[in-house]
Amino acid sequence: MITGKLYIISAPSGAGKTSLVKQLIADMDQLTVSVSHTTRSMRDGEEHGRDYFFVSVDEFKKMIEREAFLEYARVFDNFYGTAKQTVEETLAAGSDVILEIDWQGAQQVRKMIPDCLSIFILPPSIAVLQQRLKGRGQDSDEIIARRMRDAVTEMSHYGEFDYLVVNDDFQQALAELQSIITANRLMKKRQQQQLAGLLPELLGQV
Ligand code: 5GP
Repeated sequence: MITGKLYIISAPSGAGKTSLVKQLIADMDQLTVSVSHTTRSMRDGEEHGRDYFFVSVDEFKKMIEREAFLEYARVFDNFYGTAKQTVEETLAAGSDVILEIDWQGAQQVRKMIPDCLSIFILPPSIAVLQQRLKGRGQDSDEIIARRMRDAVTEMSHYGEFDYLVVNDDFQQALAELQSIITANRLMKKRQQQQLAGLLPELLGQV
């Protein structure tokens, strides 16, 4: 059985990561995104089990004790973590898996699964990021300033990632993400498994 590839995708909030990942998995076969556990409260339009598994701090801590997480981190004021079992099962079934996690989680996953690939999504400029973080103009200057600081902290880790994608034009960024995944699917190591029937035939070995 061909095992899938694990991708980490990180970005500061406002870079458009979630929309890009959503479109990416809708467009490509054999590609799924891991649903994280979080202790933060549910936002309007979110669904338990689709966007996140929303759990209490107590439940989260029990999962840490059971070593149920591949990685977990405190991000802003809440805990976020990736459950180990689903990711391992999905990879074993041959699907590629995307983890949408922060730089702290990315560091942990790289240690555990060194042949994962990590992608960092950047905004096209600080002005555009500022604009996106202002949202619908309902937040105070203080909250926006904090989001900017958090975004700069996240971006300061871009150097730890294998690929950098700038999300200026959504369709272009999407195409770039697709090409990263496609190129990796064409690597010899994977193709040798995929083409286990064809290669011996071409070489007259059957
Ligand atoms: P939000 O609360 O806006 O959905 O996500 C906030 C941040 O938490 C984002 O940077 C996101 O990448 C990160 N995050 C979401 N799920 C996980 C996870 O399972 N592990 C880690 N380490 N970070 C996560």
